[in-house]
This record gives sequence, C-alpha cells and structure tokens, in this order.
Amino acid sequence: MAKHSYEYNNMNPTATVLRRLDPMVIEKPRNPIHIHTYGGETPFFRGLTEGRLMATKCVNKKCDPSGKAGYYHLPPRVYCPDCLEKMTWEDITDLARKTARIHTHITVANPGAFNRVPVPCEIISVEIDGVATVIMSYLRGAKPEIGMPIEPVFETANPTYTILDLSWVPRR
Ligand SMILES: [Zn+2]
Repeated sequence: MAKHSYEYNNMNPTATVLRRLDPMVIEKPRNPIHIHTYGGETPFFRGLTEGRLMATKCVNKKCDPSGKAGYYHLPPRVYCPDCLEKMTWEDITDLARKTARIHTHITVANPGAFNRVPVPCEIISVEIDGVATVIMSYLRGAKPEIGMPIEPVFETANPTYTILDLSWVPRR
C-alpha cells in the first residue's frame, strides 16, 4: 500500500483529500456562508451601529406587570413576556449614559466571542434605571466593581453587526 502524506488543512474548496486508508477517511472541504436575520430585533442591532441603545417597552396599560410598570426591557424583547403584545421601541442611550452601573462582573480569560474582545475580558451585567432586566456586555480599560457608574461605547466606525458592537467604560 502506497504511503500517503496528508495535509492538515486543505484550502482548495473543490478537492477531495484522502486523510486515512484504514478506516478510509476523506476530507471534503466546505466553505459555508452563514446567513442570519435579526428579524424583530433589528432596531437593537441597527441602533448599535448608529451609536444608539434601543430597548423595548410594553404600552398595554392593562398588562401586569410590564405594561402597568412601564419599564424597559434590555436586551429587548419583541413581544411582551406578560401580555404577548408587540412591544414599542425606544432610544434609551441618554438614560444609559446617566444611570448605568455594574450589577455583577466576572473576569474571563478565554471569552471566545470570535476572539475580538480584549483578554482577559471583563464580562459585566449592566443595570439601568427604569429597565426591568440587566444586559450582559463587557467593560473596557478598567477593573470592574459592583455599582461602578459606566457609560456605553458603540463600535460605529467598524461595526461587527453583532452584540460586540456594544461595550462599556467608566462614566466620565
Ligand atoms: Zn405587556
């Protein structure tokens, strides 16, 4: 049986490469294109690329508690978790600039996230006045502390069109 040498990576998308003879293993490279829609969450992700933090709110006054309390949901929910009606979008960038603070934090050595975030990564959950939920994100250029006032930073120059376009820094 002839001796074969095998390439670890076959970058030729049309080639079939023999990896092993027994058991026989062949490699058929794929070059997949992943297409994903943000659907109803589009205002949030589009907002990040425009330097705006968009949240949702239930405007159904009979809805308890979301509609009656009138608080925001961030991460946004397209439909209300309490009455299932479609939520309304609002820009809460200024509210976040004035009132955001660190709720909890953890330092992560290998955050994954397409290897685009600074490491070690300071993962934080962010509390904002009038928002019923906390949003997970990451802090740049500072050691996080619970209660630390922070403000959002948006990657508008070179957006990734993902949640990574939102990060936070200590409030100036
Ligand atoms: Zn509702």
